[in-house]
Amino acid sequence: MKLTLLGTGSPIPHPQRAGPATLVRTSDQLVLFDAGRGVVMRLAKAGVLPSMLSGIALTHLHSDHVCDLNDIITTHWIMNPDPTTLRIAGPVGTRAFVEATLDTLAFDIGYRRNHHGDLHSGPLVDVTELDAGVTWELDGLHVRTSASDHRPVEPTLAYRISEGDQSIVIGGDGVPCVALDELVLGASAYVQTVIREDLVRSIPNVRLQDIVDYHSTVQQAADTAQRGGVAALVLTHMVPSPFPGTEDEWRSLASAFTGLVVLGDDLTSLDLDTMVVTG
Ligand SMILES: [Zn+2]
Ligand SMILES: [Zn+2]
Repeated sequence: MKLTLLGTGSPIPHPQRAGPATLVRTSDQLVLFDAGRGVVMRLAKAGVLPSMLSGIALTHLHSDHVCDLNDIITTHWIMNPDPTTLRIAGPVGTRAFVEATLDTLAFDIGYRRNHHGDLHSGPLVDVTELDAGVTWELDGLHVRTSASDHRPVEPTLAYRISEGDQSIVIGGDGVPCVALDELVLGASAYVQTVIREDLVRSIPNVRLQDIVDYHSTVQQAADTAQRGGVAALVLTHMVPSPFPGTEDEWRSLASAFTGLVVLGDDLTSLDLDTMVVTG
């Protein structure tokens, strides 16, 4: 399998970092985790159109993780020559979110259906709401879920996608917890939202201080990775975005983890067959 960080940004706008989204390529499938700002552009750069996706899994419904789902839905719909169903999974609440998204697209759906005689329906979506601890079966792929701890945001999910003896955990936002520890155990790669508490604390913005208690610090992510004995820790959704030249500082904060630490820009990829990082 191979993972690509499509977007390594956060809600704070950044000219080079798109919003949270991670693409996983298996031997014959493409699965997207979250759909943050700019996801369709980053997919295009990775050589993937929304119509090529087997499915999308959402970790939670914070806007930075779902704000461009509407673009995925629309592009998947209008670029497929035949009616094709887009599979979307996520925590409870995902169905209402997708239905509301379709409502906001109603004008566009009407315009296009009136104009294109071969469009016989609006976007076709199949939404699966997942509880923690279940497995999402996606055309032969097994995607296991666990709860994550991003309280007060609930429910939120982490995912483990497996193929053969390889597995990738998408931790999403949140602080360490027992369920996440169990999910990451022995994984090939563990992708985690991280913050630098020292830097966030130094920024005189009251609202920003609130993020510290529900996101893993780099050190906490490293501890989770080390407890789980994973092969690679992949840092993403970094707050604040690392200044160029400070990457080693970030990596050094993860020194409790003895495996491979991946910290990259958008479109950084990790190939699990070779454990080579590109991008
Ligand atoms: Zn969040
Ligand atoms: Zn987030």
